[in-house]
Amino acid sequence: MTTDAETWRAQVLTILPELFPGPLAASLSGRALVEGRWSLAAIDIRDFATDVHRSVDDTPAGGGPGMVMRADILGAALDHAAERLAGVPTIYLSPRGTPLTQARVRALAEGPGVTVLCGRFEGVDERVLEARDVEEVSIGDYVLSGGEIAAMVLIDAVVRLLPGVVGDAGSLREESFEQGLLEYPHYTRPRDWEGRAIPEVLLSGDHGRIADWRRAEAERLTRERRPDLWERRKKG
Ligand code: SAM
Repeated sequence: MTTDAETWRAQVLTILPELFPGPLAASLSGRALVEGRWSLAAIDIRDFATDVHRSVDDTPAGGGPGMVMRADILGAALDHAAERLAGVPTIYLSPRGTPLTQARVRALAEGPGVTVLCGRFEGVDERVLEARDVEEVSIGDYVLSGGEIAAMVLIDAVVRLLPGVVGDAGSLREESFEQGLLEYPHYTRPRDWEGRAIPEVLLSGDHGRIADWRRAEAERLTRERRPDLWERRKKG
């Protein structure tokens, strides 16, 4: 079991707390949750509403479609979260945010935890982002219905980097993005499948040749599929 001080803590502000832990309760992240390597609190934003209907949104100033989550209610929810868990970054998942990278994930895993704000509707009142020093992070150039699935993506990516979560830490070092490269291709038994053979070098037992082949494949795939990563790697 992990001591309290070693537990990475995530708290998620959402109008759908029943969605959590959801898939995070399964497999690696689920086992790590039971072992106390990380903890999760889903905080219901509606608990900070001030009317009998527990509403959290209103019509956009200036008109237009949809509804916007209110600054006063989100401000109160974020203040509660900051009291519960001080000294962690607050992230609002948003398609407008800085794209999430493995480097940002790693930095979060090295810290004590995170507070995540999940938007719904058209998003949140801009003033709360400014007033509460909230970082906007996107999980990709597409639009989801809400921030909950994005929060799960972020938390899953962090949790697998926490000490002891992935059994063989070596497998993390070789993964896509860790060295600025995509990962090389994998193969396993059977040796021949539908006329396709495992590359001979991988069966040679020559660890030097295998490492060279994997490196060359990782570089080829990165050049072909992600010229942006390849350019960045060459520069930096
Ligand atoms: N009106 C917003 C826009 O055009 O940028 C989209 C709002 S979206 C329907 C509702 C919520 O889903 C957002 O507030 C955000 O929390 C979440 N969301 C949607 N796409 C996302 C993405 N690519 N990354 C992270 N969060 C996202």
